[in-house]
Amino acid sequence: MTIDRVGFIGLGAMGSRMAKNLVAGGFDLIGFDGAGTAGRLPAGATEGNSAKHVGEAADVALLSLPDGAASAAVTAELLRSRPRRVRVVVDTSTIGVTAARQISARLREAGLGYVDAPVSGGIAGAANATIALMFSGGADELERLRPVLGAISKRCFHVGTEPGQGQAMKLLNNYRSAVALAATSEAVSFGLTQGLDMKGMLDVLNASSGQNTATSDKFPNRILPGLYNAQFRNTLMLKDLMLYGENVAAAGTSSDVSRAVLEIWRRFATVEPDADFTRIFAFVRDRR
Ligand code: NAD
Repeated sequence: MTIDRVGFIGLGAMGSRMAKNLVAGGFDLIGFDGAGTAGRLPAGATEGNSAKHVGEAADVALLSLPDGAASAAVTAELLRSRPRRVRVVVDTSTIGVTAARQISARLREAGLGYVDAPVSGGIAGAANATIALMFSGGADELERLRPVLGAISKRCFHVGTEPGQGQAMKLLNNYRSAVALAATSEAVSFGLTQGLDMKGMLDVLNASSGQNTATSDKFPNRILPGLYNAQFRNTLMLKDLMLYGENVAAAGTSSDVSRAVLEIWRRFATVEPDADFTRIFAFVRDRR
């Protein structure tokens, strides 16, 4: 399969940055976003009218969509492309194991390839192409897609060959990230009541066994300066934790910690829907 043109559907916080890197990498790109394409499209790319249009104009379609329902709707539209040019869909969205399996099966029946390739590393990782990409698909497919994937991620991991394995990896990663942020919010809130200052606590934690992605990244870069600008919505994190919980229940593995953490995020997303996920610190500190 030659890849002369790449499609990108979903040009939000993550997608707009990945699309920009594809254009910078020399790819001819056609993009589409349901909330308006022009303002979200990187310079040098072509504006698509719909997902169907992208399916008629590109060899590969990358997706960066909010959830499984959006991926199902967009891939159904890709199947309506006439004549259909797109040969494979690379889904970087976090949609969970079941949705990835269902979409993969539906597309395979219609002769369209699908790989799940969710990403982690936030908007900074997306901008710098340092996101971890969790590819699940055949080794041949990975090699064919390598140039495209290399433009958006210098850290591509081949985690499995079955649809949904990339999603399983992504869900367990985000569970770890959610625990780090919630637990660090509680720990720092306690420290503040003891007269410790936040910067000092972070310095010690980052030199000690309590270090994690919240202490090394989210707190110093987004929370300590009062910016709360990670551009990852709490409702998306809640979606990830709910998917993780459903999959853990189906697998029958232990969930004592994850059920407690899910409830904290559920309360936060109920009180402040769509807030930046780093605002969980203020939510926890103020005991809302
Ligand atoms: P976002 O809401 O900023 O972007 C999603 C985009 O998809 C929006 O611009 C929206 O208009 C568009 N869209 C939704 N439905 C559509 C449809 N039917 N057709 C066309 N466009 C449609 O979300 P995001 O933060 O960029 O996240 C995208 C995905 O990546 C999610 O699955 C999220 O869980 C995951 N993710 C996000 C981050 C992050 O830090 N923001 C990090 C890793 C993974």
